[in-house]
Amino acid sequence: MTSPAQRACGGCTLCCKVMAIEALAKPAGSWCGHCKPGGGCAIYAERPTECEDFACLWLASDLLDEGWKPSRSKLVVTTSDDGVEIRCDPGSPNAWRKQPYADDIRAWAVEGEHNDMTVLVIVGRRMILVTPEREFDLGIVGPDERIVREMEGTKVVGARLVRESA
Ligand code: SF4
Ligand code: SF4
Repeated sequence: MTSPAQRACGGCTLCCKVMAIEALAKPAGSWCGHCKPGGGCAIYAERPTECEDFACLWLASDLLDEGWKPSRSKLVVTTSDDGVEIRCDPGSPNAWRKQPYADDIRAWAVEGEHNDMTVLVIVGRRMILVTPEREFDLGIVGPDERIVREMEGTKVVGARLVRESA
């Protein structure tokens, strides 16, 4: 696959580990059973639409430099309606704390405070909301839970989980 930034996945398959694939009931943070060791999808022609449609931010744009290639950084960045999500390989759970990634993530949080954009680090099913001054470790977040931020002006001063059905 070739992206607008003229990038290609190459040997990277990290999204096949970190993303949940609903059509396959594959949880986030564990390898898809169809991912071949050494790269590639064993059911490429018949892979689910959500796989076919997926492109991480590194692949889809040139906003992230080469160092952010997921196979190298161990981090898969995507955007959501709320902001930026950084999915970290659970096999390297502290990859997001390494440089230059930690500084970039913090810079996005500073920008997010001005643009009402959340910066969320996801390690398996554990989620950490990153703000300019601190981190809110939300622990394991269930599929029926969402994050509610407590704000003072544009600053996040608290974060908690609520059940969608509540
Ligand atoms: S994480 Fe990005 S670069 Fe890696 S395989 Fe998936 S889409 Fe390609
Ligand atoms: S079906 Fe293929 S593309 Fe989709 S997660 Fe599994 S290995 Fe990756």
